[in-house]
Amino acid sequence: MIVNILDTKNSLLNKFISEIRDVTTQKDSMRFRRNIERIGEILSYELSQSLDYESKTVTTPLGTKNVQVPKNDIVLCSILRAGLPLHTGLLNYFDDSENAFISAYRKHINETDFEIKVEYFASPSLEGKTLILADPMLATGQSLVSVFEGLKKHGTPKEIYLACVIGSTEAIELIEKHFPESTKLWIATVDDKLNDKGYIVPGLGDAGDLAYGTKL
Ligand code: URA
Repeated sequence: MIVNILDTKNSLLNKFISEIRDVTTQKDSMRFRRNIERIGEILSYELSQSLDYESKTVTTPLGTKNVQVPKNDIVLCSILRAGLPLHTGLLNYFDDSENAFISAYRKHINETDFEIKVEYFASPSLEGKTLILADPMLATGQSLVSVFEGLKKHGTPKEIYLACVIGSTEAIELIEKHFPESTKLWIATVDDKLNDKGYIVPGLGDAGDLAYGTKL
């Protein structure tokens, strides 16, 4: 797997990451959602540099110009519900992509152990397409692996990109074992630890709750 970690070089992205982590600014849920969306836009721009391009002649009011434009048939796939603002950010840039939505949640067996339940699937065919699989919090990596297993019945993508906001080293190691070697991971930032509940430390807390409020 090819791993690209964006905060290893300084850019405006680091301000958006610091705001979603910070206990004071993250409480403003509109700003939190918009920051995740902005990170999605930056991830889109960065990963667009490794897509396939073709020449297109554009007619302006004053003449013509050949431009290189991406030619991939993209399917953006996100996991409900925390993935929604990241999906919006990716879709803002990949505005003509197809879309897939999957539900995945942690069903707790006890205080610390859980299994991933994948229930709702709405996906177009993935056959021969560029799959961008988005997950804001790559904590254990188990949701992404379960979702990928479920997506296999929708066809074999030509290539797979993973677009994530915060990940753990452990999740990246798990993903490497389950995804094709050619998979490209684009991730804003990586933390070293998970706590015993499978949350990323220092991370940011619960991305779904911060974006949309607490649930029962
Ligand atoms: N999901 C979250 O929202 N946060 C984590 O730290 C892990 C999973």
